[in-house]
Amino acid sequence: MKEGVVVKATGSVYTVRTSEKELIPCRLKGKMRLEDQKSTSPVVVGDNVLFEYEADAETGVIAEVLPRKNHIVRKSTNLSKQSHVLAANMDQAILLATINYPVTSTVFIDRFLVSAEAYSIPVVIVFNKVDRYKKGDLELLSELMEIYTKIGYRCEAISALNDADIEKLKSIVKDKVSLVAGHSGVGKSTLVNSLEPSVNLKTAEISSAHKTGIHTTTFAEMHPFSFGGYIIDTPGIRGFGLVDTGKEELYHYFREIFAASEGCQFHNCTHIHEPDCAVKAAVEEGEISESRYNSYLSIYFNKDEKYR
Ligand code: GDP
Ligand code: ZN
Repeated sequence: MKEGVVVKATGSVYTVRTSEKELIPCRLKGKMRLEDQKSTSPVVVGDNVLFEYEADAETGVIAEVLPRKNHIVRKSTNLSKQSHVLAANMDQAILLATINYPVTSTVFIDRFLVSAEAYSIPVVIVFNKVDRYKKGDLELLSELMEIYTKIGYRCEAISALNDADIEKLKSIVKDKVSLVAGHSGVGKSTLVNSLEPSVNLKTAEISSAHKTGIHTTTFAEMHPFSFGGYIIDTPGIRGFGLVDTGKEELYHYFREIFAASEGCQFHNCTHIHEPDCAVKAAVEEGEISESRYNSYLSIYFNKDEKYR
């Protein structure tokens, strides 16, 4: 048996990359194929698998999927309400955000962070297009960087058009499997293309298909960096959808709210209307930022539709 990582999955053919950088088109072993059809977590991009070469020594058969350290799910937009696993084993997500041109709302950022917390994926928040920012934009930028740095997220401010910034980004993604996410227009394709000119993201093209309501089955794909590491391209994923956390658990995924909640009087405190709520007290004292607390309320009351 040989080990490899699935870099492309199209439903019937799985492209497996070996440590020798060979790309082997594989199918699933019969027994696995049946399980795959029933399962909501079939073999996906990022999976580490064991396979055997076929007699031709050019194709293979996947016999086993090794345990995943994490995975992301895409909630289906159709009526079946089924969700399916999109990709597995990410080391980090790069959330590309912009203060302006276009505006990335803090609710969008926070919703993404909630999902990433729930999936146990570390996030680096990268603010792009700093070359275009005016005074007001730069002030907001430093405010947001302070908020997110304080609660433990690494933040960077870059211009995807600046070579030194691209080098900085290279050091962040080198030898890791990274997912790149963010609104359309924030510069994902530009950034990834500067990191590795041979990679063409398909993110944009598919998300426009979504706008017109066409249901396209989309597949993630993993592109290797020549300097080491991979980028995961997940078409149309944007904020990768909120996991089905109950409302009651939502605050677990706001790090600082969760930490403060230890001081609440009621163990089932929602941090909205209860007396002696340590979270609300922390917001009043400025310990927890108002924008984060407002995002919590927006998501809790499901009022952030347009930011998804
Ligand atoms: P995507 O939809 O996230 O893939 O965004 P694109 O990479 O297509 O970028 C959208 C537009 O923003 C393009 O016209 C890019 O040239 C431009 N752009 C991307 N990054 C920067 C940047 O750092 N500074 C400036 N001024 N423009 C940028
Ligand atoms: Zn509380």
